[in-house]
This record gives sequence, structure tokens and C-alpha cells, in this order.
Amino acid sequence: PLVSREAGVCGPVRVGSVEVGGGDLVVMAGPCSVEGRDQIVCTALGVKEAGASILRGGAFKPRTNPYSFQGLGGIGVGLLKEASRVSGLPVVTEVMSPEDVEWMSEEADLLQVGARNMQNFPLLREVGRSHRPVLLKRGMMATVDEWLQAAEYVVSSGNPGVILCERGIRSFDRATRNLLDLSAVPLVKRLSGLPVVVDPSHGTGRRDMVIPMSLAAVAAGADGLIVEVHPSPKDALCDGDQSLDLDEFRDLMGALGALTGAL
Ligand code: PEP
Ligand code: MN
Repeated sequence: PLVSREAGVCGPVRVGSVEVGGGDLVVMAGPCSVEGRDQIVCTALGVKEAGASILRGGAFKPRTNPYSFQGLGGIGVGLLKEASRVSGLPVVTEVMSPEDVEWMSEEADLLQVGARNMQNFPLLREVGRSHRPVLLKRGMMATVDEWLQAAEYVVSSGNPGVILCERGIRSFDRATRNLLDLSAVPLVKRLSGLPVVVDPSHGTGRRDMVIPMSLAAVAAGADGLIVEVHPSPKDALCDGDQSLDLDEFRDLMGALGALTGAL
């Protein structure tokens, strides 16, 4: 396989001017969904000031319930781009359909393939033909081997710029939204040579667990984090319960600074 340490094809990935997997911890932050201009610009400026280096925001949302907010689509991508210009942060956003990969590659700096699409093979091949790097989230019921084979689809289609994202897997226990598998971090890093980031927001579903699990992820060797942040989580159209507000995000960045200084 190309996705293996031995093959030597995979390594640090450049997102705009940011290097993921090069040694510095990279924090991606922003709302689950782009909801409007003020919301995304305010979040972008806030997370940038606190030390984030990539802005996240969903425009095409893979919602379980077809009646839930589905995202602003193309308008949301445009607003994200505007927030990127205003803040200077590169952006990551989810692409759900193979047909959208080409135009979204012109707008986003990093293309997210969501957990629900980890084995959407036509989508994997299409992002593999893109010149943009790919954030490949682990499927909620995917084994490590299936996840790495999904990455192989992308890399073998011509795109070595894959970042793996552990975001929790389903378990029998509903106490948390998912079971964040931090043992996968050193494992897939060793096996693949790809950068690995952790999503403690979807991994736990609970705002109060985001800081402790972020610290644990970094201690386990994660190259970065992707964290949901909303200026007013109680009003969020999606995933408010797991979103930090800007004050809490500053606390997270402070705690990470103390930890990386100690490691
Ligand atoms: C998201 O990042 O908002 C998202 C939908 O994540 P996942 O695909 O991991 O559920
Ligand atoms: Mn979300």
C-alpha cells in the first residue's frame, strides 16, 4: 500500500500556509455549520485571536434527520471564504458529493470527507483527483484497517495530502455521543505515516469533555485538533451541546499551551 510508513509517500500536509504533521500542534476551530455572515466572521476572528490556525465550518451538512437544518450549501461556502479573507485563516469544509469536489477545491483549503462518507468510494476517488488536501474522518463503525484503506483510495487516485481524523466510534454506551478512540492515534500514525488529528467535539458530544479529551489527544501524539466553537452555543442550529463558546475556546488554547510546553 501507498499508505504505509515503508512506502514513504505520506508525510506532513500543507493547508494554506499551515503545516499539519510537521511538529507544531495545529488547531482547527469553528462552528459545526455556517449559519450566517456575522456568526462565521465573529467566530473566525475570535478563534484566530485565541490561536487557532484553520477555520472550520460546515455548509453541506450530512444530517441524520432529513428535516434537520441541512446547511447553507453554496452560500455557506461563500460566507466561509469571506470569513477566511477577513481573518486570514485557511478553511476546512465538508464535501458530500463527487460533483461538488471540483468547484469546492477552488474555494476551500482543505476538503473534509465526513464520517458518514468514509466509504463513499466515488467521493474518495474524486477528492483523490483534487489538488487540495483531504481531512478524512473515521467512519463511526469503521475499523482502523477500513479507515486506512479509505485513505488508500485517495492517495492511489493521485492525492498524497491526506490528514486522518479520529472522531469517535459507536459503542454500547450512550453516556457519551461516541467513544473517542485515542488508542487509534499512535496506531495509525505508526502504520500510515499520515498526520492525525482528533475531534473531541463529535468524539464526546459534550462541551465539558472537550478540554480534557483535547489534552489527552495531544498527549497521545495527535498532530492537531478540530474543535466546534460557536459564539452562542445555545442558539446553534447544529451540535450546540458540544460546542465551546469563545471564552471556553480561549481556556482550551491556554491549557494546550501549558501542556505542549511541558511535553
Ligand atoms: C462535522 O464535522 O460537523 C461532522 C458532521 O462530523 P462527522 O462526519 O465526524 O460526524
Ligand atoms: Mn458537528
